[in-house]
Amino acid sequence: MGKKVLVVGAGLGGLTTALRLAVKGYSVEILEKNAKAGGRLNQIKKDGFTFDTGPSFFSMSYEFKQFADECGIEIPFKFVELDPLYTVNFSGNPKTYYLHKDLDKLAAQFAAEEPDFKEKMARYLKKSGALYNDTVQLVIKSNFDSILGYLLTLARVNPAHIPQLFQTFWQHVHNHFDSKEAQQIVSLVAFFLGRTPFDTSAIYSLLSHIEFKHDGYYNVEGGMYKIVEGLVGELQKAGVTFRYNTEIAKVEDDGRKVTAVIDKEGNRYTADAILINADAAVFRGRILNRPAFSEEKMRKMDWTMGYLTFYIGVKTKLPQVNHHNYYLGNNYEEYAHKVMQEPGTLEKPYYYVNVVSKHNAECAPDGCESLFFVCPVPNLLFKQDWSDRDKIVDSIIEDFGARIGQDIRPDIVSRTIYTPAEWEKHFNLYMGSGLGLSHKIRQIGAFRPANKDEKLKNLFYVGASTIPGAGLPMAVISSKLAFERVDDFLKK
Ligand SMILES: Cc1cc2nc3c(=O)[nH]c(=O)nc-3n(C[C@H](O)[C@H](O)[C@H](O)COP(=O)(O)OP(=O)(O)OC[C@H]3O[C@@H](n4cnc5c(N)ncnc54)[C@H](O)[C@@H]3O)c2cc1C
Repeated sequence: MGKKVLVVGAGLGGLTTALRLAVKGYSVEILEKNAKAGGRLNQIKKDGFTFDTGPSFFSMSYEFKQFADECGIEIPFKFVELDPLYTVNFSGNPKTYYLHKDLDKLAAQFAAEEPDFKEKMARYLKKSGALYNDTVQLVIKSNFDSILGYLLTLARVNPAHIPQLFQTFWQHVHNHFDSKEAQQIVSLVAFFLGRTPFDTSAIYSLLSHIEFKHDGYYNVEGGMYKIVEGLVGELQKAGVTFRYNTEIAKVEDDGRKVTAVIDKEGNRYTADAILINADAAVFRGRILNRPAFSEEKMRKMDWTMGYLTFYIGVKTKLPQVNHHNYYLGNNYEEYAHKVMQEPGTLEKPYYYVNVVSKHNAECAPDGCESLFFVCPVPNLLFKQDWSDRDKIVDSIIEDFGARIGQDIRPDIVSRTIYTPAEWEKHFNLYMGSGLGLSHKIRQIGAFRPANKDEKLKNLFYVGASTIPGAGLPMAVISSKLAFERVDDFLKK
C-alpha cells in the first residue's frame, strides 16, 4: 500500500480529492463528523419524501466529466439539462419569466420591458464569455504560491477586463440593460455566490456566461444526493475507508508536520498527509489556534449570508410550478442592501423554491410534491435568535400560495426547518454562513485561505473557503488543486 492520507470531512471537496488520491495509489481514510457523507450536499428522508438539503442544481457539468476522466471512471450519476433554467416572479405581478438559454426565447420574455433585449444580452454575454475564457485556466484553475505570483498572473489577463475590476455586478448589469426587470433578473446570479449584486465584483459576470451560454444548469436524476452516493460507491471500490461520527477537535504537531489528528473522543489518527475539507478558515482558527484566524479576526472577515431552508411535503400536485423558481419582491435594491444584516427584510422575504419531485417522481409519494425553500437571511453574526422561525416560514408559505394560486397549507404533511444555527451545528459553518468566506476581491485567489498550510508542510485544505471558492463545480476544481499539492508533497 502507498503512503497514507487522512481526509477530514466528506463534503464534495473531500470526496473528490479522496478519489483522485486513491486512484493514484495512496491509501485514503475519510473522517467525517456526521453519520453520512455529503456535507452541505446532503439529503433528508422523512415522511415518505426525499429532499435535497442544500444544492438543488449544478452548472459546469464538464468539470464532473473531466474529474471522472482523470479518475478513470464514468460519471457515477445521471444528469439532465434544465430548460427553462429557472423562473422568476415579482411580487404583485402575475407574470412569470421563463429563463431560457436560447436567446430568442429569452428575449421574448422581455419583449414588453426591454424590446432590444436580444442585442443587449448578446453584447453582455460576449463580455462575460471573454472574461470567463481569459481567466478560467489562468486564474480560477491555478495554484498560487505567493501574492506576488498571483498578482503577476493577474497582470497577464487581458487588460480589456480591467474596468470590471472596479465595478460592482449591479453597475455592470445596469450599464447593459435599461428595464428594472432585466437588470434584476440578470444580476440575480450574484446571489448564488452568497452575497448581493451590490457587493459582488463585476468580474463574476462570467457566471452569466456559464448559466446562459456555456453549460446551463442540470438536474440530477433521483435528486442531488445521487452525486454523493455515486462517489461513495467509487471510493469504496477504490479501497477508501470511511469513519463517520468522527469530529476532529485537535491537531498534534512537531513544529514542522502534523503528527496526529485527534477526535472529540480522544482517538488519534496518523498519516503521511492530512487534507482538511472542514472550512479552511474555521479549522485554522478554532482547531489550530492561528492568530490570523482568531475569533476577533474571523468576525472581521467577509462571510456569505445565512440561509433559512425548509423542506415541505404536500399531498397535492403543483403542475403550475417549475423545477427552480425565484420569488422576488418589488424593492430589489433596498432589499439587497439590507438582507445580509437586517432581520427586518424577513417581513417581506425573497425566496427560492425547488420542486425536486417535478423531474424525480421517486422523491415524493404518489400524488404528492417535495418542496425545498431557500430564503437568504442574515447569518448568526447579525441575527442570533431564531425563535421566530415558524412565523417567517408560515408567512413565506402563505405568500407562495398567493403567487401560485393554490394555498398549500392544508396539504402540508411534512415540515422541517434549518436556520443558520442548524447549518452551523451540522457542518461547522462559521456563524451559519451558507457558502463560507465571501468572494470579495481581497478574499479570492492568493488572498483566500490557501490550500497548503502556512506552517505544517503535510497539511492541506480543500473546499469552499479555500481556492477557488463556493459551489459544486468549484469544489471539484478545488479537489484538483488540492490533489496537486498533496501529490507533490508525497512524491518528494
Ligand atoms: C442552502 C444551500 C444551497 C446551495 N445550493 C447550491 C446549488 O444549487 N448549486 C451549487 O453548485 N452549490 C450550492 N451550494 C453550495 C455548495 O453546497 C457548497 O459550495 C459545497 O457543497 C461545499 O462543499 P465542501 O466540500 O467545500 O464543504 P462541505 O459540504 O461543507 O463539507 C465539509 C465536510 O466537513 C465536515 N466537517 C466539518 N468539520 C469537521 C471536523 N472538525 N471533523 C470532521 N469533519 C468535519 C462537515 O460535516 C462536512 O461533511 C449551496 C449551499 C447551501 C448551504
